[in-house]
Amino acid sequence: DKPPRFHREFIHLNVRDSTPIRVMQWNILAQALGEGLDSFVQCPLEALNWSRRKYLILEEILAYRPHILCLQEVDHYYDTFQPVLAGLGYSSNFCPKPWSPCLDVEGNNGPDGCALFFDQSRFELLDSMNIRLSAMMIPTNQVAVVMMLRCCSTGKCVCVAVTHLKARSGWEWLRSAQGSDLLRHLQNVVQKHCGGAAGETCSDIPLLICGDFNAIPTEEVYRRFITSPLGLDSAYKKLSQDGLKEPEYTTWKIRPTGECCTTLDYIWYSQDMLRVDAVLDMPTEEQIGPNRLPSFSYASDHLSLVCDFSFKEKK
Ligand code: NDP
Ligand code: CA
Repeated sequence: DKPPRFHREFIHLNVRDSTPIRVMQWNILAQALGEGLDSFVQCPLEALNWSRRKYLILEEILAYRPHILCLQEVDHYYDTFQPVLAGLGYSSNFCPKPWSPCLDVEGNNGPDGCALFFDQSRFELLDSMNIRLSAMMIPTNQVAVVMMLRCCSTGKCVCVAVTHLKARSGWEWLRSAQGSDLLRHLQNVVQKHCGGAAGETCSDIPLLICGDFNAIPTEEVYRRFITSPLGLDSAYKKLSQDGLKEPEYTTWKIRPTGECCTTLDYIWYSQDMLRVDAVLDMPTEEQIGPNRLPSFSYASDHLSLVCDFSFKEKK
C-alpha cells in the first residue's frame, strides 16, 4: 500500500562524461518544523511521522547517489544522517542555525541547519568552514557550510557551498545582503587555495553553490549571483527548452494562507570551468497530486535538484 516514488528522468545535455560529478540540492523539511510550525493543511500528520519519513528521505538520496549532497533544514544530523551516510561512504559537516525555529517546537530534536556530504571515494577534504552569514556587518540567523574538495582521480579542486537564506516576503534586502556575504566568503576561500594575489579573481577553482535561497528568479539576490564576477550560472535553467528559464517550481505546498508553487532552490556553478552534463527533471503536477507536498509519496515540500557536472577542458 506504499505510494510509488515520483518517476523522474535525467535529461542528458551532452555526450556523457565517463565520470561526472553528481550534485544533489535538497531542503529536506526539518522534522520539528513539518510537525510543529509549517501547517501543511492537506498533508496528513501520519505522512510526517519521522519513523516513516526518514526512510523516504534516505531513499531519495540513495536513488541518485550524489557525490556531493547539500541539505537544508537538517534537524536529525547526529542521530540519523551523519551515521547512516557515513556507513555509505560519505564524510560530512553540519552547521546549525544560531536560533533555529525548531527549538520553539515541543519535543524538538535540536536546531536545524545546513549539512554538506561528499563521497570519500571520489573526493578528499582540503578545508571546511562553517559560516554565519552577515548583513551589513551584523551576524544573522542564516548559515553556510563551505568545503574545498580535491577530486581523487584527477587532482582537480572544487569549492562547494550549501546555504539556506532567510525566508518570507519583506526580507528580500536581507537575502541579498546574505548572498553578497556568501559570495565574498567564497571569493576569499578560492583565493586562499589558488594562491593568487589579493583582489585578483581566481580563475582555477570552480564553485558549486547549492541552496534554498527563498528567492524567486526576479529577486535581487538571484541577480547578484548571475552578475557576480565569479562567473556563475544556475544549472536548472538547462531543463527549459531554450536553456534560459528556471523551472516553474522547486517547492509546492498548501498552507492556510493558500497554495505556494514557486522556484526558490538553485544549484549555481562556475560556467567557464564546469559543464552541466545532465539534469534530473521535475515531477509533473499530476505526479505531485492535488494535495501537493509533502505527502506519503514525497518527504519534503521542496523537491530535490540533481545535476551531473564535468570539468571543462582548459582553453
Ligand atoms: P526564517 O524566516 O528564515 O524561517 C525559518 C523556517 O520557517 C524556514 O525553514 C522556513 O522554511 C519556514 N517558513 C517559511 N515560511 C513559513 C510559513 N509561512 N509558515 C511556517 N514556516 C515557514 O526564520 P529565521 O531563521 O529568521 O528564524 C526565525 C525564528 O527563529 C523565530 O520564529 C524564532 O523562533 C527563532 N529566533 C529566536 C531567537 C531567540 O532569541 N530565541 C532570536 C531569533 C530567532 P523555507 O525556507 O522552506 O520557506
Ligand atoms: Ca521549510
